[in-house]
Amino acid sequence: MNASIDPDEITERKPTKGEVPFYRENGQAVPRGIKGLFRNLKWWASGILLAWWHLGAFLRWDRGEGAPDQAILIDMAGRRAYFFNIEIWPQEVYYVTGLLLIAAISLFLMSALAGRIWCGFLCWQTVYTDLFQNIERWIIGERTARIKFQREPASAGKFVKQAMVVGSWAIISAACGIGVTLWFGDAFQMLGDIFTLNAPLAAYVFIGVIGGFCFLLGGFARERVCVYMCPYSRFQAAMFDEHSLIVSYEAWRGEPRAPAPKDRKFEGRGHCVDCKMCVQVCPTGVDIRFGNQLACIGCGLCIDACDQIMDKFGLPKGLISYDSAVNLTAREDGKPVPGIKPIRARTLLYGGLLAIVGGLMLTSLLTRSTTEVNVLHERAPLFVELSDGSVRNGYNYKVLNMVREDRSYVLKTEGLAGATLEMVGGASDVAELELPVEKDQVGNFRIFVNAPAESLAGRSNDLIFVLVEKGKDGKPIRSKTLFAGPDK
Ligand code: SF4
Ligand code: SF4
Repeated sequence: MNASIDPDEITERKPTKGEVPFYRENGQAVPRGIKGLFRNLKWWASGILLAWWHLGAFLRWDRGEGAPDQAILIDMAGRRAYFFNIEIWPQEVYYVTGLLLIAAISLFLMSALAGRIWCGFLCWQTVYTDLFQNIERWIIGERTARIKFQREPASAGKFVKQAMVVGSWAIISAACGIGVTLWFGDAFQMLGDIFTLNAPLAAYVFIGVIGGFCFLLGGFARERVCVYMCPYSRFQAAMFDEHSLIVSYEAWRGEPRAPAPKDRKFEGRGHCVDCKMCVQVCPTGVDIRFGNQLACIGCGLCIDACDQIMDKFGLPKGLISYDSAVNLTAREDGKPVPGIKPIRARTLLYGGLLAIVGGLMLTSLLTRSTTEVNVLHERAPLFVELSDGSVRNGYNYKVLNMVREDRSYVLKTEGLAGATLEMVGGASDVAELELPVEKDQVGNFRIFVNAPAESLAGRSNDLIFVLVEKGKDGKPIRSKTLFAGPDK
């Protein structure tokens, strides 16, 4: 891979007339390889994310006997999600809402601080597109070779290389699909099942869908996803302010641009030598010299390219830089550069929201009950008048035992003097009912409450079910519900 830039190539560069455009309407950007700080950051970010994506499901976490030992698991069959020592039941789907909120606010904060850092380094579309483009580079060659390759007539050699590229994309896409699937079952078991064709059909369909999207979006749609499909690129600018870091070209220093002078003297002209290296390395085909644009994902590769050019000509780096509008303006005006200002109203707002949502979720997780109750009043009939003059209402009472040991609960009522309880298939005419619930299960109980007519105020009365764990001093769970009666 030839990633460094030869200055002779720049000075001898012919005008770009007739050159294959860096972006073709019916094709893709053909970015040139580059080395530098931002390229290294991209490798590191991609490496960490891909490792996490593909290997994270193999992390283990001991939850005791009978419980899955996968650290992060979305158990669809068991209707449960596990995240280390946190276990989320379907009833607690609000935690997912909380996580989505945290993700959205983090994205806002990230954008306010460092522009499109998400798009340029962390987004899956960027990671896989970058990987696929580099595979093309490793197999076919640098940008010029790839453009030439595209123009070549069909041949056996071309077919073999193309097959190697597409085959590599397909293998990586399949690995992506498998990687995602492994989060939904025991990773070791599922991996074996997938390769021995013993996995359920749904797993292969899932791998096909995820892998297919990875293949199409990363291999073919590429920058079009960022430019035309992704909603975030449309509104991310709303989260920037004059202190947000963005990739910018210092036109005041670069213009008037002109081809590199043979004598390497830059008096009376701009520092931009119009080599278009910044454009050639750009994965979305942007010419940042036209100003900040929607298609710029903030990857910084044009900075690496331009810094190399500036170095070759002994000019100060930073003609293209990752800086705030305030700093850029100060430099242009020859004033002291104020520097990065991470603490400001916007970031404090996002940071505060993040702390509030995170704090609420943490408090809720730390104080959450291991028992949940659901009460449903029977509607048909709403009530029955018994021969002794009392009134009966029926209820479906559900107790969710969220721990891995059998538990017994005691249920009683409040609000209606003299009310008694009866359980279908159990005790009757008692003040307290005992409800056994197996470990990790939901106990379903059909219960009748009989109340003396004189304890009722009218058609609608308040009844409170009170549930406590037998023999424990825990906080009672109170559920207020309706007790219907005849008109008075
Ligand atoms: S901005 Fe830098 S990399 Fe881009 S054309 Fe000018 S000198 Fe070349
Ligand atoms: S213009 Fe520069 S920062 Fe923006 S996408 Fe292109 S290479 Fe990346």
